[in-house]
Amino acid sequence: MRILMIAPPGAGKGTQGAIIAAHFQIRHIATGDLLRAHVADQTALGLAVKRHLDVGELVPDQIVLEMVREALLEAKHAGGGYVLDGVPRTMAQARATYDIGSELGMTANVALYLKADDQELTRRLLARAAVEHRADDTEDVIARRLALYRELTHPIVEWYHQRGILVSVDAMRPVEEVGREILAALEVMRTLVDQVPEEARHAVDLTNIGSPFNQTRQP
Ligand code: AMP
Repeated sequence: MRILMIAPPGAGKGTQGAIIAAHFQIRHIATGDLLRAHVADQTALGLAVKRHLDVGELVPDQIVLEMVREALLEAKHAGGGYVLDGVPRTMAQARATYDIGSELGMTANVALYLKADDQELTRRLLARAAVEHRADDTEDVIARRLALYRELTHPIVEWYHQRGILVSVDAMRPVEEVGREILAALEVMRTLVDQVPEEARHAVDLTNIGSPFNQTRQP
C-alpha cells in the first residue's frame, strides 16, 4: 500500500499514520516529526526551519521534497509501501510528490482524507499543548496553521478525488473508532489497488457514516 494523508492539524494523522504503518507493515513518513527531530538535534537544517515551525508557517518546498525523496527511496528498499503523513501541503507539493513517486515507480495509490471541523481541531490541539508542549500548539499559531490548511492544503483533496484514489473518513469520533474505519476502508482499497486501474475507481466517502451509527446505538 502506498498511502498519503491529507488532514488539518489536530485531525490525528500522526496517530492514524502509525496505526496504518503497523497494520500494513509499511514505512510511516511524517515530515513534521522529521523536521522536529532536526530542530531538537540542532542540525543545520533544524536551525534553518525552526522559525517556520515555531510560527506555524510552511517550510520551503525544496527542504521538504528532498526529505520526501530520501524517505521514499528508503521505503522502496524496505518493500515499497509507505504512509506519507504531512505531505503534500500545497498543490505544488502534490505535483512534486507525484513526480518523485513516478520517478521511483511508487506513486501513491490511496489518498486518505481525515475530515474534522475547526472548533474540534482547536480543542484537540490545545489539549495536546498541555501534554506535549509543542511550540506550535498555542492559540495564535493553531489559528495560523488551520488557516493555511484551509487555504493551501484542502484544495488538493479534490485533485485526488478526480484521480479516483480518495478515501474520506470522519475524524471527529474517538481515535480507535476512526482507526478501525480507516483500516477497514484501506483493506477494501487494497483489493481494488491490485485489480482496478485508478481511472476506473470511485472515491470512497465515509464522512457521513458516523451519524446514522450513533443514532442507532442510542437507547
Ligand atoms: P505537522 O507535524 O504535520 O503538523 O507539521 C508541523 C510543522 O512542520 C508544520 O506546521 C510546518 O511548519 C512543517 N511542515 C511539515 N510538513 C510540511 C510540508 N509538507 N511542507 C511545509 N512545511 C511542513
